[in-house]
Amino acid sequence: MPICFDLDGTLGHFSSGFVILREALGEVWGQAPTAEELKRCQGSTDWEIVDELHRMRFGRGLDETGYEAYEVACVARFRRVFAPGAQAAVGYAGVLEGMHRLAERHRVWLVSGNAPELLAFKAEVLGIDPAIHRLGSLPRHDRAGLLKRALHGCPGPHLYVGDRPHDLAAAQAAGLPFIGIGDMVPGDHVCLSPESEAEHLVAAVEATLGAGS
Ligand SMILES: [Mg+2]
Repeated sequence: MPICFDLDGTLGHFSSGFVILREALGEVWGQAPTAEELKRCQGSTDWEIVDELHRMRFGRGLDETGYEAYEVACVARFRRVFAPGAQAAVGYAGVLEGMHRLAERHRVWLVSGNAPELLAFKAEVLGIDPAIHRLGSLPRHDRAGLLKRALHGCPGPHLYVGDRPHDLAAAQAAGLPFIGIGDMVPGDHVCLSPESEAEHLVAAVEATLGAGS
């Protein structure tokens, strides 16, 4: 029964991430997309967002080579900005510990909108056990498509833990129950504070899985 976690805003945060995304595209494309262009994007994954910005800039969709170039530039910038002694990422200690405890008994996946190498970098910075499965943003997949891919062939019940309305929408599209971290997702699902203790997360996940089985 896989339990899937979003990363940004759910397990911690890397501030200025969208600035870095724009700067990385500026390096690759010669001119950075504007904050207004970024705001117009509907998608929640790197592939979707960079594809939308590419269509605005060049009038055609992104291809795999263009996505790879973005990913390389973006990871390099993140590595510089979040180098030891420079800007620090913030990890939600109780949520992270709870996820690791759950991973002792369940299959746990990170299913994130970050490009795969960026997800790997962020997971490393947050101290996430490499044994926890990861699925980052793949070409031509939205978030629900990523969730379905992570769960493919695995018996349920499943669950998605996220922090934004797009996480809830993806969970619903993939047929999963949802737990929110923070208070940004309206709905009648369970919500936990980013400062929650590990046992609160574990209890909420077990209760939600039990209710769905
Ligand atoms: Mg998030």
